[in-house]
Amino acid sequence: MNHSSSARAVFQHRPKDECGVFAVFGHPRAAEITFFGLYALQHRGQESAGIVVKNDKDRKFKSHHGMGLVSQVFNGQELEKLPGTRAIGHVRYSTTGSSTLENAQPIVVDCSRGQIAVGHNGNLVNANILRDELEAKGAIFKTTVDSEVILHLMAQPTNSLGDSSIVQALQKVSGAFSLVLLSEREIIGVRDSFGFRPLCIGQADGAWLLSSESCAFDIIPGAKFVRDVEPGEIVVIDETGLRSIKPFVPKDRLGFCIFEYVYFARPDSTIEGVNVSAVRTNMGRELARLHPVDADIVIPVPDSGNYAALGFSEESKIPYDVAFVRNHYVGRTFLNPSQLAREFGVKVKLNIIRERVAGKRVVVVDDSIVRGTTARSRVMNLRNAGAKEVHIRISCPPHRFSCHYGIDFPDPKDLIANQLSHEEIAKYLQADSLGYLDEAGMVRATGRSENKFCMACFNNKYPVPVDPELNKLVLERRDTRADSLVFAEDTAPRLFNGKL
Ligand code: AMP
Repeated sequence: MNHSSSARAVFQHRPKDECGVFAVFGHPRAAEITFFGLYALQHRGQESAGIVVKNDKDRKFKSHHGMGLVSQVFNGQELEKLPGTRAIGHVRYSTTGSSTLENAQPIVVDCSRGQIAVGHNGNLVNANILRDELEAKGAIFKTTVDSEVILHLMAQPTNSLGDSSIVQALQKVSGAFSLVLLSEREIIGVRDSFGFRPLCIGQADGAWLLSSESCAFDIIPGAKFVRDVEPGEIVVIDETGLRSIKPFVPKDRLGFCIFEYVYFARPDSTIEGVNVSAVRTNMGRELARLHPVDADIVIPVPDSGNYAALGFSEESKIPYDVAFVRNHYVGRTFLNPSQLAREFGVKVKLNIIRERVAGKRVVVVDDSIVRGTTARSRVMNLRNAGAKEVHIRISCPPHRFSCHYGIDFPDPKDLIANQLSHEEIAKYLQADSLGYLDEAGMVRATGRSENKFCMACFNNKYPVPVDPELNKLVLERRDTRADSLVFAEDTAPRLFNGKL
């Protein structure tokens, strides 16, 4: 691999994060409440978890981080070691190469004004450039996570104290960021001006809470949802209460990630006033109207297709059935590096009940097709189980483009819809028919207007420009540090070659 192609490999496989953040202010057991919150946000990240607390007696923050699930990282003893009334927490999900303990968040830095910690959900598009500038000025980075840039910007001695330091730091970063910050006196919640990622405010027994998703408030005793943090809003919570700062000019068009509604967020969360399960059911209804089919049963791919299948069944009047059984003790499989391992992962995860599908014309509904590996394997399983016809219905449009704002999709050349036509995909999946929801139907299902959303992974319209050349140049330097990422590119099997 020559230098520029290896640099490209790093760019294409650069670490990206899907994460969940949580924060508490003013609760005697802040770490425990954060632990509950992270538990509810586990679907947003399963590779590492961390909590940082501040109590009134100690000057220094206390923290605990670990690799794995929230329940593996924290036990009762760990939480006892984190006394304090303020805390922030984070669950992280990353691609290969950056999955190390040193990259686990929240990240803490010491600076002249004391300690600051940050937990970040999203992806900064200019982090590498800013990092180079900061390193040139002498900053020493502890991690390879883009979020650390924000802390160093806030710690710059040229910045004045107080709210303005965060405003000045945020003016420099671009991309997607829903942040929780802990300083010695306050917790702060921030959402970028496009509002790419969710962040909401809750209260429990007089304490303030911040969470990526409202579902976390449902499981915390006494907690209730207050409101979403608005795009471009900074909420500062201290002893005097919550104050809101809106220092940035509001955007004409917003960029909430519509894929949060399609797949990523939990169905029991309400985002921007709309319940996620209701949106998914609407998507299924839209799909049934757009791509009707004569069939005997509608089955979901659990859990991702559950609500869309329900909507499809309601609209089409084709009975809903449950034929796939999920093994809940298997983690997500799409990160596995080899195609063989991926295919095993698909099979071990879902088993089929032969008796429910044999001799039937089956509509199988899922939220999305990314690489096509799992979809193809499911069609094969259905046919082996005796299904007479298999019709695939997908509750979003074809995924053709990268996400630069925090959802982990593979390189575009591994996105099946980027490489193959509609007919070729149906043939590859060996489906009798294939129907995707269109953009208009997906947006209608949310009840909100198109200009509120980022749909770049479907339509290539990126709200915040991403300059591949700029990224590539900076990442060339990273090349030498990230051998495993280059290695991942070298060994990746070419999914579609010769398979059609
Ligand atoms: P495949 O058929 O191999 O493309 O896999 C599609 C499945 O992966 C669908 O069931 C989706 O729910 C799931 N999926 C889609 N996007 C992601 C993502 N970014 N992270 C994890 N799983 C995803």
